[in-house]
Amino acid sequence: MLYYAEPVARLIAELNKLPGVGPKTAQRLAFHILYSPPEEVRALAEAILAAKERTRYCSLCGNLTEEDPCFLCRDDSRDPSVICVVEEPRDLVALERTRQFRGRYHVLHGAISPMEGIGPEKLRIKELLDRLKDGTVKEVVLATNADVEGEATALYLAKILKPLGLKVTRLAYGIPVGGDLEYADEVTLARAFAGRREMD
Ligand SMILES: [Zn+2]
Repeated sequence: MLYYAEPVARLIAELNKLPGVGPKTAQRLAFHILYSPPEEVRALAEAILAAKERTRYCSLCGNLTEEDPCFLCRDDSRDPSVICVVEEPRDLVALERTRQFRGRYHVLHGAISPMEGIGPEKLRIKELLDRLKDGTVKEVVLATNADVEGEATALYLAKILKPLGLKVTRLAYGIPVGGDLEYADEVTLARAFAGRREMD
């Protein structure tokens, strides 16, 4: 039995697919949208489509960008000898907000997770190794999350990067264990960055 008109039921079903949005919230959001002025609804729909259709991943660092390479990779004032490795574009944004780091980034698009069947080959590790080939990079900062997957990823990377003669560092975690980088406040994250230590 259909309680709502089909287009409304469809909107609720689509919203319900979003992370953290249960059936009740989906229903509330759907009605909020239905009660909003048409121009606001159009702006929301267009923003969703534009974000999806006009952005892609930077072919160098993997950041989300409108232009390839992204503005961070094109910025000549940034130090090319240090690469900071993060899991997701939103982690890069969290680090940029601290204004602590003036080097380059590399986004893995995930972390090693045997439970979810994510092995190293599913991450942008090959792309990272390609960037290290010309010898410009002297230090790799591993800024993956402080949870099990993030630690496993950092250990895996350290194991393959150290034999290349690179300095491999890890953020000093004032970040709570299990914590996502993106949720750490700027001061904590800046401190974690400044106190980064070399991995054994
Ligand atoms: Zn880039």
